[in-house]
Amino acid sequence: MTVRVRFAPSPTGYLHIGGARTAMYNQLFAKAMGGKYILRIEDTDTERSERKFETAQIEDLKWLGITHDEGPDVGGEYGPYRQSERLHIYKAWSDKLIEKKHAYPCFCTEAELTAKKEHAEKNNLPPVYDGTCRHITRADSAARIAKGEEAVIRFHVQNKSYDFQDGVRGHVTFPEGMVGDFVIMRANGIPVYNFAVVVDDSSMKITHVIRAEEHLNNTLRQLMLYEAFGEKIPEFSHVSLLIGEDRQKLSKRHGATSVRLYQEMNYLPTALLNYLCLLGWSHPNELDVFDPQTLGTLFNLNRFTKSSAIYDVNKLNFINGQHVRALPIESILIEAEKTIPVNHPFHKMDEGWKLRTITVFKEKMNFFQDLLGLVEILFTTNVSEDAEYKEAIGWETTPKIREYLRGEIEIALVNKKKFVTVEDYNIWSEHVKGELKIKGKPLFMGMRAVLTHQAHGSDLKFIIPLTPLEVLATRIKL
Ligand code: GLU
Repeated sequence: MTVRVRFAPSPTGYLHIGGARTAMYNQLFAKAMGGKYILRIEDTDTERSERKFETAQIEDLKWLGITHDEGPDVGGEYGPYRQSERLHIYKAWSDKLIEKKHAYPCFCTEAELTAKKEHAEKNNLPPVYDGTCRHITRADSAARIAKGEEAVIRFHVQNKSYDFQDGVRGHVTFPEGMVGDFVIMRANGIPVYNFAVVVDDSSMKITHVIRAEEHLNNTLRQLMLYEAFGEKIPEFSHVSLLIGEDRQKLSKRHGATSVRLYQEMNYLPTALLNYLCLLGWSHPNELDVFDPQTLGTLFNLNRFTKSSAIYDVNKLNFINGQHVRALPIESILIEAEKTIPVNHPFHKMDEGWKLRTITVFKEKMNFFQDLLGLVEILFTTNVSEDAEYKEAIGWETTPKIREYLRGEIEIALVNKKKFVTVEDYNIWSEHVKGELKIKGKPLFMGMRAVLTHQAHGSDLKFIIPLTPLEVLATRIKL
C-alpha cells in the first residue's frame, strides 16, 4: 500500500500556524513512508473563499519548505484538486447514495425546519431532522424536482453506534442517536463539508488522515458515509489543539497566528517548523532543536501527544535563536546586515571586523535584527543614566583608571591605530591591577564605566577590540 495523505485548507485567509503544523505532519509522514502528500483546496464556501488566499497559502507553504506531490498548481492523476472544480464528482457520488437508498431529496423549507425544531424543543425530543421526506417515493420526488421544486440531499442515518481507532485518541465510540439525517448536498449543487471530504478522500485514495482535533466530531458523519459507499476508511489521527496560555483555542488575540506574519518578523522557517513540530509531537531522541525536514524515518505517528499544546512565543524565540546560531557566521552576517539601516556606521567596517562582531554577538541573537541593538555598544557615545554606572564613576579609583587609559588611547591614536587589540586590553587591565593596585569590582566596573559609559554588557575583552578607537577617544574625552 502506498501511503497517501493530504492537507486540505480552506482558502479563506492566510495560512494559520495550526494549518502549517497539520501540513508539516502530513508531509513528514508521507516522506517517512515513501508516500505521497497531496494539497487539496476546500473552497466550497463560495462566500469566504478567495483565489488570492489559495495562492498566498501555497506561497507560505513553500516558504516553510513544505512541498506537495499533487495539488491544484502541480496537477496529479487524482485531480482536480479544488473542490469547486469537482462538483460533477459530488453529484455522481450523491446520485450513487440515492440509488442505494442511503440518501434522498428533502423538500422541507427553512420555515418548516424551524417549526420542526421548535416543536422538538417544546416536546423534549432530540433536535434532529424528523425524516419527513425520507418516505417520499422516487417517482414523486422526481416529479417535484422536474417541476422546479428545490431540494437538498439528505443522508439517511442508520440507528447504530460507530467506532474507530484513532492514532492519537485511541478507541473512539460515538453512541447511536447523536445525529439525525444530515444534508450532504445543498439545493445549489454545492456539497457539504463532511460529504465532500469523504468523496475526495475516497477518490483520491487517501490512506491516512492527520488533522486537528477540532474535526474529531466530524468523523462520525464521515464514518457513516464511508460505510454507505462501501469505501475503505482511512486511518485517522486527530492531533491536539493549539491553545493559548489561557487554555483557549489559539486565535488572533493571542498574537500572531498567520505564517505570513512570522515571515515578516524575520523568523527562520526551519525554526518555526521545529517549534510547531514539537507542539503535539515529540522527537524520539528527546531533541528540542532540529530541522523537521531531516527527520526522515524518525517521524512516525506513535509520538503524537494527547494533551493540548500551549503556544509559547518565548520558546519559539529561543528555538529561532538556536537555528540562527547554527548558521555559518557568513550567512548570519548576510541576513543580519540587511536589517541595519543604510547610514549606520556598521556598513563602513571591513569584512573581518563584521565577522568578528557576529562571532561575539551571535550568542545573544534570537533574530537577525537583534544585531542592531547589540552593536550599539560599539558606536554610541551616550552616557548611561543607570545608578550603578553613576556609582562606579563616583568611586575614587575610577578617575585614576580614566587618566591611565586616556594616555594609552592617546598613544594608540598617535600611532594611527584604528582599533586596539585583545593584547592591548589585557595589558591595560594588568596595569590597573598591578601598578594602580585596583582590583575586583573597582577594576572591572571602573574600566567598563570609563570605556563604555555603561555599567553592564558583554565581556570587555571582546567588545573593546571591536570598538573604533575614535569612539573610545570620544568617550574618554580626548
Ligand atoms: N478544510 C478543512 C479545514 O480547513 C479540512 C478538514 C480535514 O482535514 O478533513 O479545517
